Amino acid sequence: MTADTLRYQVSPSDHARSAEQREAILAGELGFGKFFTDHMVAIQWDKAQGWHDAKVCAYGPLSLDPSASVLHYGQEIFEGIKAYRHADGSIWTFRPEANGERLQRSAARLALPQLPVAEFVESLRQLVAIDHAWVPSTPESSLYFRPFMIATEAFLGVRAAQAAGYYVIASPAGAYFAKGVAPVSIWLSEDYARAAKGGTGAAKCGGNYAASLLPQQEAYAQGCSQVLFLDPVEGKYLEELGGMNVFLVFKDGRLVTPALSGSILEGITRSSILQLARDRGMQVEERPITIDEWKQGVASGEITEVFACGTAAVVTPIGELKGKGFVVGDITAPAGEITMSIRKELTDIQYGRLPDRHGWLVKLR
Ligand SMILES: *Cc1c(COP(=O)(O)O)cnc(C)c1O
Repeated sequence: MTADTLRYQVSPSDHARSAEQREAILAGELGFGKFFTDHMVAIQWDKAQGWHDAKVCAYGPLSLDPSASVLHYGQEIFEGIKAYRHADGSIWTFRPEANGERLQRSAARLALPQLPVAEFVESLRQLVAIDHAWVPSTPESSLYFRPFMIATEAFLGVRAAQAAGYYVIASPAGAYFAKGVAPVSIWLSEDYARAAKGGTGAAKCGGNYAASLLPQQEAYAQGCSQVLFLDPVEGKYLEELGGMNVFLVFKDGRLVTPALSGSILEGITRSSILQLARDRGMQVEERPITIDEWKQGVASGEITEVFACGTAAVVTPIGELKGKGFVVGDITAPAGEITMSIRKELTDIQYGRLPDRHGWLVKLR
């Protein structure tokens, strides 16, 4: 604990799983977000006291007043960040200050209080201190943290939060692609947008995900695993997937991604990939990209690879884009070379197999 962070009251769970039970879970199919560790972090905030009552306690149900604002007006924000176990057993996380800063920007947009970045990092450290045995050590596995904040005030009036809770839960996660990285099909959503101009697209909030679920269902019905959303004003420019940013690789070696538009979520994976590509001397462009440029570029061979990126899946090759009456790409083709080498470089840094030349890793234990 650093001197200038909150004092935590740590109450170990009286029903923590035994070492045998934990090992059995960690040795099985972890999937994503299915299992949770024995503890969680909870910190309260109210207007009068600010942040207070920091706790590490047993993982379990929250108690909320039925009139709590989060249940009525959706005042909720979250983060996603992982802990990686290195070969020597040490536990590290990746660019946590960037997640802490993003949580602050999301909080500002949703009229929730701002948690100091040092408290955000300390909250991860506190949870790992007690639940470190839940950080798996099988290849490409991790402990996925889900920090989130909700407005807890018991009041049906509509206003900025006057009471809020910040929590961190953690879930051991297996390799996202259990059978090796395989290209996915993406559905182009032409009827729905995930965000609006001036809306909350750049904030990591539950409401954006709620808005993406119906188009996501449409994607499943079309045999696709994810949705691509276009800009909400003209319906012409690429934005992102429901929870991942998108990149195009051109034949001439350029790496291109949509410029941040105000309705795109600024991914930390996105910004890390931009940096790694610049380090390689690749030409990198952040600019508006039309859906026609994608379709025509893939058809003509000008665009050679497309991929999506985010903390959960790291880098996902996109094999095919489908929409009403069209398909571009070839889902049977193997993942692109640049896609896979960027994926490998980033994960090698995260797992301590390559030098951390940008100082992105922070040791948690
Ligand atoms: C979290 C998220 C991403 C990816 O962000 P990372 O920081 O790379 O995990 C992209 N788009 C949306 C909508 C997100 O919520």
